[in-house]
Amino acid sequence: MSAVRIVCGVGSSRRDYSRIQHAIAVGESKALCGEIALPVLVFDWYLPFEPSLSLSCEACVRLWERQNPVRIVT
Ligand SMILES: [Zn+2]
Repeated sequence: MSAVRIVCGVGSSRRDYSRIQHAIAVGESKALCGEIALPVLVFDWYLPFEPSLSLSCEACVRLWERQNPVRIVT
């Protein structure tokens, strides 16, 4: 199994910080959309990517959904 862990990432520029959230694979320095970003690490816990947030990067959400096609909505 080679599941890539996708977590929440933020852009490297301060202007970006907390305004937009990208989806990023743990260990990468670029988000799914290609933006330079860093995973958000809270102590030793990665903030999960939440595609439903209004500040989530639209390009990342599309790419994330392509990688996570099975979504259980209740
Ligand atoms: Zn993005």
